Amino acid sequence: MEARSIRCGGHGGLVDMLKKVVTLLALAVLLIVGLVLVAKLRDPRGREMDRTSEYLDYLWKHPPRCICGFNLEPAHLEDERFNGHGDGLYTAFALRCLCGNTQLHVLGHYWRDAPSDPLIFGEPIVVQCKSCGKTVTLFDRSKDGYDAEIGYGLSGANGENPAEEFKCDTCGPCAIELFVGLEYHDDLFGGEFGDFRGREQDLFSWFTLFGRCSKCLRFIIIGEFECA
Ligand SMILES: [Zn+2]
Ligand SMILES: [Zn+2]
Repeated sequence: MEARSIRCGGHGGLVDMLKKVVTLLALAVLLIVGLVLVAKLRDPRGREMDRTSEYLDYLWKHPPRCICGFNLEPAHLEDERFNGHGDGLYTAFALRCLCGNTQLHVLGHYWRDAPSDPLIFGEPIVVQCKSCGKTVTLFDRSKDGYDAEIGYGLSGANGENPAEEFKCDTCGPCAIELFVGLEYHDDLFGGEFGDFRGREQDLFSWFTLFGRCSKCLRFIIIGEFECA
């Protein structure tokens, strides 16, 4: 009996010790979580990064109206040439025709501001799918982007020459796998844009159209449009 009671007592001691260890571990976990939370609250950069990722998440999930005529997929491109013009929020989408075709043709207007200026490929930009025959207007600065949304209008003449297919420098007109890059002001989600709550996605300040040429497989910039 005595031996048994000693054994029982020994077992009880082990359970007590395990309980203590579990309690200590739980306290340690709580302490670490608490410290991390305090550090985050004290670090404005941490808070800012949280907000930035929240805004980016919103923009990924709410693409602007002008690209909604396509199947869209968030694009994460390694090439820094396609990461925008500087500060601000940047998102990019891969475009596919609603029929699933990724090899699309781009129509726009070639012109020069002055005879010595470089040749520009301008809007309205129209995308054509030769697989299903669909033609969709992709971008027109007089209707799309920050200035158009705010009502500042558009200065300068676009689309005066007849529409032509975009030509790769090397291959000429050909099918292109398309991507759109969109840039937004940092303060877009602040109080001053309260009237535009829920349609921040349409207030992009840059619209960049680029793509992979189906012949030479290079990534090429088709057009960059400052919209603010
Ligand atoms: Zn199609
Ligand atoms: Zn090419």
